[in-house]
Amino acid sequence: MARLVMKFGGVSVADGKRLRHVGDLVKHFHDQNEIVLVTSALQGVTDELLNCARVSAGEGKVAEVIDFIERLTERHNQAISDAIDDEDIRSEVKEITDRKLSELEKAYIGICYLGELTARSIDRISSYGEQLAAPILSGVLRDIGIKSRDYTGGEVGIITNSDYGNARPLDKTYSLIEERLMPLSGVPVVTGFIAKDEKGIITTLGRGGSDFTASIIGSAIGADEIWFWKETSGVLTTDPKLVPEAKTIPAISYIEAMELSYFGAKVLHPRAIEPAIRKGIPVRVKCTFDPDSPGTLIIREDVQKKDVIKAVTLMPNVAMLNISGAEMIGTPGVAARAFTSLANADVNIIMISQGSSEAHISIVVEERHLDRAEETLRAEFTRGVVREFSHNRDVAALAVVGAGMAGTPGVASRIFGAMGRAGINVMMISQGSSEHNISFVVSSKEAKRAVGELHREFGLGGESR
Ligand code: ASP
Ligand code: MG
Repeated sequence: MARLVMKFGGVSVADGKRLRHVGDLVKHFHDQNEIVLVTSALQGVTDELLNCARVSAGEGKVAEVIDFIERLTERHNQAISDAIDDEDIRSEVKEITDRKLSELEKAYIGICYLGELTARSIDRISSYGEQLAAPILSGVLRDIGIKSRDYTGGEVGIITNSDYGNARPLDKTYSLIEERLMPLSGVPVVTGFIAKDEKGIITTLGRGGSDFTASIIGSAIGADEIWFWKETSGVLTTDPKLVPEAKTIPAISYIEAMELSYFGAKVLHPRAIEPAIRKGIPVRVKCTFDPDSPGTLIIREDVQKKDVIKAVTLMPNVAMLNISGAEMIGTPGVAARAFTSLANADVNIIMISQGSSEAHISIVVEERHLDRAEETLRAEFTRGVVREFSHNRDVAALAVVGAGMAGTPGVASRIFGAMGRAGINVMMISQGSSEHNISFVVSSKEAKRAVGELHREFGLGGESR
């Protein structure tokens, strides 16, 4: 009997048919395992909730709120009737969702009249997606014959600070969850993403926060594994849209998984697996279409040192900024000023590189931040040290990831040798001293080819080297 926490994202619970499929998956594993479920909102609902909140605060049209609530009600009712057969369970669930929807409507109307939207009310509003999904999923389980009840994150004991929109659990969270959930009775369904602070006010853990919820709970109840269900088969060696030979990686370490997610490959947010890492609980990424295949296991140890490289990822929508000037040489504080001003302008920096001549600094940012970033830097360095500013939008960043490259000579030479043979120009390079990731920039039009060459060079698709 293993103890598992399973998290289903918005796509997996998008509608009644998929909710039912989740129920069937749980049933499939329930005989052999103890299970706690964590659910996201139905696909797209969190975005819609936030959007309606913004419109309400801006235009204050109550009629639009009523329209939106009607559509949301319709969608959830449809899901309930598609996923649940038993009339009594259906009406029980519908009673709950109706009550939540009418609370939500009142909150929106309040926002319409007040014309303001605080961080605290945004959290309250965006919590309803999960608050609607969890009772439905729990109802599906009862309909299938599995004992179940639903909980909000706050009810289960996730108590956070009051940093709305990005709240962090307090230490007592872990013991509270254990007290409230253990010993497990049936299959509890917990809302992902949402929690409450010490005053009992709803908080959220940041977008995509359901993964975080799952690993908090997994760590609190000493789960044997935490399963993240996806529509793809685990963690892949690269994007199959770029390279059809892309393969599922059987096992990967936490550190490698974090390098992958840092690079926009949307595997798992590092924050999301931090509680699992602390307790050394393995995390598994499983495919909802292929439940019996093992997926990808993410663990503490570095499994296969012989596989120097595990994956190649691509970030297409980036731009590169360069600042240069002879006076930058030997002048302390230039980098600090550049990065501080970018941080103040809310520009996220993806890559940094400065050669030891100190005459240039290259910075990669998201393309949508480029104009703001360049303006900010020009304003910061109006006189003096920085003489030249330039940028290039038509670039993409590649990352080659694998813990095995730490201390292994020759990896960089293989990477750049492959680029050289393919005639692909490398514009900027960065490797942190952890040596788990070598990142570099090429022109956008060569990016896809570059990924393919590297995938082949390191035999990631199983091709001979
Ligand atoms: N529903 C939330 C979001 O869309 C949390 C999640 O899906 O993980 O960000
Ligand atoms: Mg670009």
